[in-house]
Amino acid sequence: MNAYNRFMSLIDLFYPKFCLNCSFPGAYICPRCQKYLIMPKRPQCYVCKKNSLNSLTHQLCLRKLDIDGVCYLFYYNGLLKKIIKNFKYRLATKVGYELFNVIKPNVINRLSFYKDLNGNVVLQPIPLSKDKYNERGFNQALLIAKFMNRYLNLAIADFLTRVKETKPQANMKTKLDRFRNLKGAFGIKPGTDTRQIKKLRIILIDDVITTGSTVKEAAKVLKKNGALKVYVLALAGG
Ligand SMILES: [Zn+2]
Ligand SMILES: [Zn+2]
Repeated sequence: MNAYNRFMSLIDLFYPKFCLNCSFPGAYICPRCQKYLIMPKRPQCYVCKKNSLNSLTHQLCLRKLDIDGVCYLFYYNGLLKKIIKNFKYRLATKVGYELFNVIKPNVINRLSFYKDLNGNVVLQPIPLSKDKYNERGFNQALLIAKFMNRYLNLAIADFLTRVKETKPQANMKTKLDRFRNLKGAFGIKPGTDTRQIKKLRIILIDDVITTGSTVKEAAKVLKKNGALKVYVLALAGG
């Protein structure tokens, strides 16, 4: 047990667990609130919201958003907001572990498409800005990639870097502001042999997908460098 874990156990002793949603003691996601972990009802195309097997983007819809499929496990509601907030701070691994224990098999089934992808497939967590990384000490998208990897068991790539400091998307008022804020946000990490990216199927991992503008920028960079397919897998969305 390292110093950090010892410190965390000490914290547990003084600060017992409370439900993130209703404050009931004993667990971060209490049995009563597990019903708020709501899986999207049917797989759909992220662009037109119509039915689509495995949430793949329709051929025609790819013109609007060049991402081959977008899958998220839960609706981005109050509970998920709190879970994701905690993924960014000190409870990250504990909340993740608890979520792993209460997740239902039908949710896991949504991941089987990604598990069964043939060929070269990697997970690529959306990178944080340097400032945020220094402030937090870890990237929550990498933690979520590790969480997904309990089912997927894929390699985790590190091809991307933030080349532009962006403002929080939540502060952006219009769609155009959001677009400008993120335009050119990502680049290939210096020292990466881009031949590795060619013909690769890349699954971008993020905590939450709302407008899709972040992953869109990341996907653009990867496709420009020869990625065959780019998918998105997020913990929450909507
Ligand atoms: Zn609760
Ligand atoms: Zn569509």
